[in-house]
Amino acid sequence: MKPGEGLDQSVRYLKGVGPKRAETLERLGIRTVEDLLYFLPRSYEDRSNITPIGDLKPGVKATIKARIKSLNAYTARRRRQQIVEIGVTDGTGFLSLVWFQTAYLKEDDFQSDKEMFFTGKVQYYQKKDRLQMVAPRYDPADGEDGDSPENPILPEYPLTEGLNQTAMRKMVRVALQLFAGMFREILPDETLKANDLPEINQAVVDAHFPESTEIARRARRRFAYEELFLLELAMAMRRQNTRTETGHSFEINEKINERFHALFPFSFTGAQERSIAEIAEDIQKNVPMNRLLQGDVGSGKTAVALYPLLVAVANKYQAAIMAPTEILAEQHFRRFNEYLKHGRVRMELLRGGAKPAERRRIIEDVASGEIDLLVGTHALIQRDVDFLRLGAVVVDEQHKFGVMQRSALRAKGLHPHVLVMTATPIPRSLALTVFGDLDVSVLDEMPPGRKPIDTKCVKLSALDKVYKFTAGKLKEGRQAFVVYPLVEESETLDIKAATSMAEELARGPFRGFRVGLLHGRMSADEKERVMREFRDGETDLLVTTLVVEVGVDVANATIMIVEHAERFGLSQLHQLRGRIGRGEEESYCFLVADPKTEDAVNRLKALVKTSDGFKISEEDLRIRGPGEFFGTRQHGLPEMKIADIINDFALLRLARRDAFALIQRDPELQRPENAAARKAVMERFKDKLELFQVG
Ligand code: ADP
Ligand code: MG
Repeated sequence: MKPGEGLDQSVRYLKGVGPKRAETLERLGIRTVEDLLYFLPRSYEDRSNITPIGDLKPGVKATIKARIKSLNAYTARRRRQQIVEIGVTDGTGFLSLVWFQTAYLKEDDFQSDKEMFFTGKVQYYQKKDRLQMVAPRYDPADGEDGDSPENPILPEYPLTEGLNQTAMRKMVRVALQLFAGMFREILPDETLKANDLPEINQAVVDAHFPESTEIARRARRRFAYEELFLLELAMAMRRQNTRTETGHSFEINEKINERFHALFPFSFTGAQERSIAEIAEDIQKNVPMNRLLQGDVGSGKTAVALYPLLVAVANKYQAAIMAPTEILAEQHFRRFNEYLKHGRVRMELLRGGAKPAERRRIIEDVASGEIDLLVGTHALIQRDVDFLRLGAVVVDEQHKFGVMQRSALRAKGLHPHVLVMTATPIPRSLALTVFGDLDVSVLDEMPPGRKPIDTKCVKLSALDKVYKFTAGKLKEGRQAFVVYPLVEESETLDIKAATSMAEELARGPFRGFRVGLLHGRMSADEKERVMREFRDGETDLLVTTLVVEVGVDVANATIMIVEHAERFGLSQLHQLRGRIGRGEEESYCFLVADPKTEDAVNRLKALVKTSDGFKISEEDLRIRGPGEFFGTRQHGLPEMKIADIINDFALLRLARRDAFALIQRDPELQRPENAAARKAVMERFKDKLELFQVG
C-alpha cells in the first residue's frame, strides 16, 4: 500500500490484489478502494444461526456445520454429466451435497473428516427419498472466514467469474482494516438523525461485517438513501438551474383562451383542462417551463401541446414542435393545419429531405421571424436553424429529453418554455428518478367515445383462425399490423425470420393482399417509405419488428397481431395496441403466445383486462425492473448500485424531500457543511447532468 493515499486509490495496491484480480474486480465496477467498500453484499450467511442437519426442512435456505464423510465423483450416464456428491454429518444426521457443475470445484477442498460450513437451499430428492443441497456455498470452519465469534454473520457478494466469496471477503477485510474511519460524511447531520441512519464510517463496517442482520439492514438503508439523496440533489440542482434562467413571461387572457378552445370541434376532458391550466401557470412566469405531459395513446396530448405554442405566438414569440421521426412530424403538421385552418398562424414543416432552396427559405424565414410555428424532427435545434424569438418548444415522444436538447437550446442562448410529451405512462417512482427535475402533468382520462379494443390471448395453434379472420377484414377494406419481436442479440436472425414471414404470409394466408415489411435495419428513408405506403393504404398488411416507428395514426388499421407476445414488455404491448382503434370501426388485438409459466399467462391477461396504461406500466415495472422498463438501453435511467427504486420507493421520497429542501436553503451547496455532498454530486453526475454552468 502506498502511504498517504486515500480511498480513491486503485484496489490493485491492496494486499493480495494484483493487476489480474484488479481486472476481475473492474468487471464488477470496482476500481478504487471506495468502490470496493461501497460494493455491498447481496445477502449474508448467518453463522450465528447454524441449523442441525436433523432439523433441516425442504425448501428453506440454511447453514450447517458438518464434517466430510464421503466423496463421490461420477459421470451421469444419461446426460454425460460430471457429478460430485459429498456426504456430511454433524452428529444429528447425514446430508448429501450435490454438484452438477463441477468445473470449478476443487476436490482438495473436501478432505475426509474436515469440518466445514455449507449454506444452501435444502431440497427433497424424491427418487432417493432424502434431503440434499445442490451446489451449496462452502467454507472451511477453521479458515480465515471461520466461525470467529465476533463475526458470526458473513457477507455474500455478487461475484463474477474468477472470484470467489472467500477471496472477496478477504479483500474487503483488508480494505476495512486500512481505511475504516477515512470516509467523509456526505449526509447532513440532521438528515442522519431524522431518518435514523448510521454515520458513514460505522455504516461501512456494518454493511460488510455486521453484528446482526438488523444492523446490516440499517447500514444498507443508509447507503440506499445516500445514493437516492445524491440523485435527487442532482435533480434539484438541475431544476434550480433552469429556475434561475430568465424565461419569457407570456400574457394570457380570456380572449386567448376562448380563441384556443374554439379551434377544436370537441370540448376538452377534465384532465386536458387541468393540464392546460398547469401549463398556463408555468408560461406566465418568467422562468422557463420544464414540464412533462404524460398520457396514454389517444388521451389527446396534441391539443394540449398546442396550447403553449399558440400562447407563444399570440405573445409575438415563435414556437416549435419536434417529433422523433419525419413521418410523425408530418402527422403533427397535418393535424395542426386542420385545427388552425382559419387562423393566422404562419406554420412550416421543415423536412429532412427538403430541397436546398426550400430549406434555405424556411431557415431564413425562421431567422427573420416570418414563421411563427416550426414543425420538424429533433434535429431542428441541432442544425443551422436560428430563431428570432423562440418562446416555446414541444418535444414529442422522447424518453430522455432534457439534457441534450435543453443544453443545445441553451448553447444558442435560448430559454424557451419546454413541454415534453410521452405516451408511455411512467410509474411515479420512475418519473421521480428519470424526470425528477421536471414538473409533471398527467392525462389520465380518455376523450369520450373511444371504442375499447377487443384484446384476445390466442395460442399458436389458433393462429390460422386469426389469419383467416384478419383476411376477412382486409377484404372489407381494413388494414392490419403483424408485429414480430426483435431480440437484440440475434437481430439479423430475427430480421430474416420477419422477412421470410412476410413472404410466407403474402404467399399463404394473405395471398392477393399487399404485404409490407418494416424493420430496424432499413435506412431511415426506406422506413419512411414503407410507413407512408401503409398510411396511404397502398399496403394492406404491415409486418413490422419496430415499436416506435409504428407511432403513426392509421385510422383504417383495425387489427393487430402480435407474435411471440410473451417477449414484449407489457407497456410495449399496450403502446402497440394503441396504434389501432383510432377510427370508427371495431378493432381487434391478438396476442399470440404459448406462455410456459402461469406468470406469463397472467401478464398477458392483464392486458385483456385493462386498458389503463398507468396500471399496466406499474405492473410492468414490477415484473421487469426499471432497467428494462423502457425496452431500450437508451432510457437515460441513472444506474442504481444499491437502491432499488421499486422496493425503496418510500426511501426515494424521503431522499427527494430532503434533497429539494437542502437545495432550497443552499442552492449551489456553497456552505462548508455541504461541501462533501457537493463534491459527491459533481463526481457522480458531472457527465450525465449539466449541473452547473461553472464548476
Ligand atoms: P395522443 O397524442 O395523446 O395519442 P391525440 O392528441 O392524437 O392523442 O388525440 C387522439 C384523437 O382524439 C384525435 O383524433 C383528437 O382529435 C381526439 N381528441 C382529443 N381530445 C379530445 C376530446 N377532448 N374529445 C374528443 N376527441 C378528442
Ligand atoms: Mg400523439
